[in-house]
Amino acid sequence: MLKIRSIKKMQLLLEVARQEKKRIGFVPTMGSLHEGHQSLLRKSKKDNDLSILSIFVNPKQFFANEDFALYPRDEKKDEILAKKEKVDIILYPSIKEMYPDGYKTYVDVEQLSNVLCGESRSGHFRGVATVVAKLLNIVCPDKLYLGQKDAQQAVIIKQMVNDLNFPSKIEVMPTVRENDGLAMSSRNSYLSMKHREEVPVLFKSLKLAKYKILKGETSAGQIIRQIRSNITQNTSGRIDYIECVNAETLQPLRTLTGRVLIAVAVWFGRARLIDNIILRIR
Ligand code: AMP
Repeated sequence: MLKIRSIKKMQLLLEVARQEKKRIGFVPTMGSLHEGHQSLLRKSKKDNDLSILSIFVNPKQFFANEDFALYPRDEKKDEILAKKEKVDIILYPSIKEMYPDGYKTYVDVEQLSNVLCGESRSGHFRGVATVVAKLLNIVCPDKLYLGQKDAQQAVIIKQMVNDLNFPSKIEVMPTVRENDGLAMSSRNSYLSMKHREEVPVLFKSLKLAKYKILKGETSAGQIIRQIRSNITQNTSGRIDYIECVNAETLQPLRTLTGRVLIAVAVWFGRARLIDNIILRIR
């Protein structure tokens, strides 16, 4: 497993790999790896000749009051897990090389970036789209692997890849969960013991919503109310949003029809947890 910090070096190396017609799979992350990341890495290794992992805590997607400084970083553990998943190259770009003094270019995916998480984290997806565009230009992968856990991010990156004619194909992999249903996330380490006991309610309430919909409920308002009361009655979490939206346009729905994304974001202490399910409704 190679560890590369220089962008130029990475580009030169991958140029050779492409000349040798190697298929390149790419998993961009912020590190602090867990089973969710590992499932993406496993797929990347299975589908490609070269599996590339990037680890970069991207300052442009955090804001002054957010957790950039506190975000968990553990290079040693990440390298052990990356080796286990047979990653060929880890790219660790530096902030200085990614955003040198005088940096001025950003990617803004309109509309999709301003809803759901974009409403309370204004500018967050501009940072995400910008860093993914840069990483795609550096790695030029055949395939890019993303997680459904960050459903809005996946929709935005798909749109960007399409709009800006990146040649990479995108595969979105299912959310990996703890045994009690909690979606794995690097930020779960922020949870207190009390909150950790409460948080499985998020996925439980999404599953209950799915059950009601399968039983015939078609009102988004009704489903949102049910999820809200489930969360408020069973946890001390502070709800940021609960929404039922079209899974492609991310526009809110009144009647549940087509591909529906039901997404929640809830604060537990300083951990803001997100979770979602996608349903296809006739
Ligand atoms: P992050 O390191 O949080 O930026 O995530 C890097 C990639 O891993 C993103 O595409 C995430 O959607 C994906 N990911 C994070 N958590 C999970 C999970 N629990 N299951 C599947 N994919 C995940």
